[in-house]
Amino acid sequence: MTFIESRSSTGQRTRVRWRNWAGSVTASPERVVRPTSVSEIQRLVTESPQHWRIRMAGSGHSFTPIVPSDHLLLLPHDFSEELGIDSKRMVARVPAGMVLHEVNLRLAAAGYALANMGDITAQTVAGSISTSTHGTGVGFTGLAGQVAGFSLVTATGDWLHCSPDENTEVWRLGRVSLGALGILTHVDMRIVPAFRLRAVEEPRRLDEVLDNFDSITERSDHFEFYWVPHTRWALTKHNTRTDEPAIPRSAFSKWLGKTVLENYAFGAVCAVGKAVPSLIPRLATALPSSGRQEFVEASHDVFATRRLVRFHEMEYSIPRAALPSALRNIVQMVEREQFKVSFPVEVRVTGADDVALSTSFGRESAYIAVHMYRGMQYEAYFRRVEEILAPLDGRPHWGKLHFQGAETLRKQYALSDHFVALRAELDPERRFLNSYVERVLGA
Ligand SMILES: Cc1cc2nc3c(=O)[nH]c(=O)nc-3n(C[C@H](O)[C@H](O)[C@H](O)COP(=O)(O)OP(=O)(O)OC[C@H]3O[C@@H](n4cnc5c(N)ncnc54)[C@H](O)[C@@H]3O)c2cc1C
Repeated sequence: MTFIESRSSTGQRTRVRWRNWAGSVTASPERVVRPTSVSEIQRLVTESPQHWRIRMAGSGHSFTPIVPSDHLLLLPHDFSEELGIDSKRMVARVPAGMVLHEVNLRLAAAGYALANMGDITAQTVAGSISTSTHGTGVGFTGLAGQVAGFSLVTATGDWLHCSPDENTEVWRLGRVSLGALGILTHVDMRIVPAFRLRAVEEPRRLDEVLDNFDSITERSDHFEFYWVPHTRWALTKHNTRTDEPAIPRSAFSKWLGKTVLENYAFGAVCAVGKAVPSLIPRLATALPSSGRQEFVEASHDVFATRRLVRFHEMEYSIPRAALPSALRNIVQMVEREQFKVSFPVEVRVTGADDVALSTSFGRESAYIAVHMYRGMQYEAYFRRVEEILAPLDGRPHWGKLHFQGAETLRKQYALSDHFVALRAELDPERRFLNSYVERVLGA
């Protein structure tokens, strides 16, 4: 997220401008505030003009225009509060604006961890759960499925605590809320004892992975792979919980692998591909030769990487059983339509959860994510992929690009009508909506 304050020639502050990580969504709200307490949020909500739309930003890592407000934009709050760890209940109470990276460090220092997460940790806890952010693993859920309770300031300025025992309807429907129910102040995350993962990363033949998709995904705790377009190769990653002592990558090999090869070298390949797209299929053949890597490290170091190359992304969840044929259809479509795609296509899985607007609500899911290097045309490619995935009971990630609206989405999200009714009850004046949320939930 970038946040730019502009000043006039006399030094007076004029309008501020907010921009998301991908640089594709901007906002110039009337007022921007970084609150420092719950009571400040309550005051901001009750004292702002009634017609103002109020949105809270996380780290701006969503690709969709899910954050902006033209009126009041709150930035991740700075409560200077520590995590409250309840080791009996195995729950950590986290200030909602804290980024996952900070949560991981604090939990690790106390001997705890989150059970699963996505592939970066730059997002805030509130932002992650609000869009159904997830990692991979058939026996695990996304982040919203790891929530034990949350507190939010509603349109009336009330501060509600929601859990399976309190305000149960808001709890049942509101763990993934797109920022539409109010301002989250704290999230209670379930925690587990700190653990290490044995990571095995290696290229394998795509057909072999797809032919054995079920058994491969079930063989390790957290499996994912990247199909390299224009090749028949998949870069696979198996992460399995282990009690073995750490066998870390050296600082140099980590830097070489994660920073140089996955970011700068890959960025250079993408930049060449952008300048001369016809070279992309030949450049792609270099990726599978990245070799085999094996190491044992703390879970949060294995789950997450830094992403320095900017891109646009769309991701769909589909029933897990539909994955092999869906991906084969995408492979054929890319060949047939001759799209030049320099970014690998990412495949992950999760177990079912009971979170109303979660992409894995009520079913084991597989996820297919497509990316395009920033500055290259993505729409035709993403639309063709969506045509393949949406009819398979496909549910788009709320924070990633897609082309659907409320009419089609309400069929995919069984409880979306209940969510919409709850939203209308909590916020009849629609103060927490913006045009993206209206597009996907209905005006
Ligand atoms: C490089 C990169 C890697 C990514 N990797 C993954 C991944 O592995 N898995 C995955 O599922 N997704 C991934 N994403 C998507 C990302 O996790 C989601 O878009 C997530 O929502 C971003 O969190 P954020 O803190 O940046 O929130 P933002 O994008 O800033 O906001 C998201 C939503 O949360 C709301 N919100 C934020 N704070 C509050 C609050 N306090 N109260 C109420 N509402 C609030 C906002 O209003 C908005 O509706 C990735 C994105 C990028 C750019």
